[in-house]
Amino acid sequence: MPARTGKQLLDGLKDDREVWIDGERVTDIAGHPAFAGAARGLAEVFDLQHEAAEDCLIADPETGEPINVSHMIPRAPADIARRHRGLRRIAEHTVGVMGRTPDYMNVTYAGFAGCAHEWAAHGNEEGAENLVAYQKFLRRNDISLTHTLIHPTIDKSKGDLPRLDDDVVLQKVADTEHGIVVRGARILATLAPFADELAVYPGLPLPEGGERFALSFCIPMATPGLRFICRDSCAGSLNRFDHPLSSRFDEQDAFVIFDDVEVPRDRIHIDGNVKVYNEVMGKSWHPNVMQQTMVRAQTKLEFAWGLATAMTESIGDFGPAAQQMLGELWSYSALAEAAVTAAEANPSDWGNGVWFPDGQPLWALRACMPTWMPRANEIIKLLGSHNLLATPTWRMMNDGRLRPLIDRYLRGAKDTNAERRIRLFRLAWDYAGTALAGRVELYERFYLTSGARNQQRAHQKANNRDRALALVERFLAEAPE
Ligand SMILES: Cc1cc2nc3c(=O)[nH]c(=O)nc-3n(C[C@H](O)[C@H](O)[C@H](O)COP(=O)(O)OP(=O)(O)OC[C@H]3O[C@@H](n4cnc5c(N)ncnc54)[C@H](O)[C@@H]3O)c2cc1C
Repeated sequence: MPARTGKQLLDGLKDDREVWIDGERVTDIAGHPAFAGAARGLAEVFDLQHEAAEDCLIADPETGEPINVSHMIPRAPADIARRHRGLRRIAEHTVGVMGRTPDYMNVTYAGFAGCAHEWAAHGNEEGAENLVAYQKFLRRNDISLTHTLIHPTIDKSKGDLPRLDDDVVLQKVADTEHGIVVRGARILATLAPFADELAVYPGLPLPEGGERFALSFCIPMATPGLRFICRDSCAGSLNRFDHPLSSRFDEQDAFVIFDDVEVPRDRIHIDGNVKVYNEVMGKSWHPNVMQQTMVRAQTKLEFAWGLATAMTESIGDFGPAAQQMLGELWSYSALAEAAVTAAEANPSDWGNGVWFPDGQPLWALRACMPTWMPRANEIIKLLGSHNLLATPTWRMMNDGRLRPLIDRYLRGAKDTNAERRIRLFRLAWDYAGTALAGRVELYERFYLTSGARNQQRAHQKANNRDRALALVERFLAEAPE
């Protein structure tokens, strides 16, 4: 089945998956109040690829059928620019608020398959072959994929690495005729209720002797024993006036329990190979997937700047404080755009003729985003002030007794009518202040591991030390007189 429609996505969610929210096992994802809005929102993303086919679709290199461009394995520098167009269209649709639209995992698995030699190291040839076959399945069936990488926190004083006697960390407990049985838990699976399949691949490295934790595989959401514990819903009502973002973009995050889950042999990409597990994410994954996620992040910052600009203009706030904060927001967006452009303009061949952007500018952006994104929210709240809460609902707007008063007392500066002003501030509140906004801020701080870790990694990964150190050394070598 080539690129799917929104309806096909929604039909595919009707299975025996075990998704729990607030004590209830949900049988109808698209019909449940906690999920209906985002189901519709994600369905629109699937429809978008047909509406904007010139940007979003390409021909499958083997079958010729239309597939989403995020499945493309870039084989030339021009492919990176082609992929950018499709990623940008998707990011624009959700204004970057949905972090895990399926293009994130599509790009990830296209990169894994393109660099299958990285997975075939240390005797893992069978895992690498399975992975390449899986990526074909993913792209040809336009699968919505969620993933979970991180071990649950039980006792931080014991460190990041799983202990060999750990009974919580996901691990293999048996071999079967057709595959393996796994048990344990992982955090978190964003998008889980709206996914067709779940991917497990390496996160933090494992200690020596940790073979049974060294696992990577992909399985259907409805696999027996797989249980998803969702967080509280952040979905607003389905009314897009009242909740312009949370009515459609609450992508959910689930704690995943593997209660003795059988994984078929052909779905396993790593089984006990600690060396591959520990090495494979340190190679081409970063420069590849960062293109997707930084295109999304840049779009989100540009949206924040646009929103803040329109918001301040609607109340005639042209003062120096507002101008300063707007300038700060614009700078984040412009710097992000410049870094993505620089990364895409200097790609390299990662082997097998597969091309990815330059990872260096993307490391810098990855290190900055966990502070820029919360700051963008703060700026919107500082600029918005009480206006963020002086925002009647659609029902009030349609009340004949209230509407004339609203039109009179809640209008904005110059020709800004009350409806425009209220829409703007509702959008801003949903971006920076609602339950969804709080969750999205946490996402931006942690989805690529914490900002602290990313800043440390940026310094460790920087490959242009020579000039920096030479600038210093000159002074140290100088004659005193
Ligand atoms: C909304 C949301 C969605 C997510 N979705 C997914 C998903 O879809 N798939 C998935 O696999 N994971 C997902 N995650 C999990 C995410 O990968 C982890 O939260 C992330 O890896 C950070 O791990 P942690 O939460 O254990 O925090 P830690 O990394 O332990 O950080 C906790 C605190 O300790 C500090 N800290 C940690 N290490 C250091 C250090 N070395 N130096 C200084 N300070 C440090 C951090 O700054 C932070 O304040 C999601 C998380 C969130 C919040």
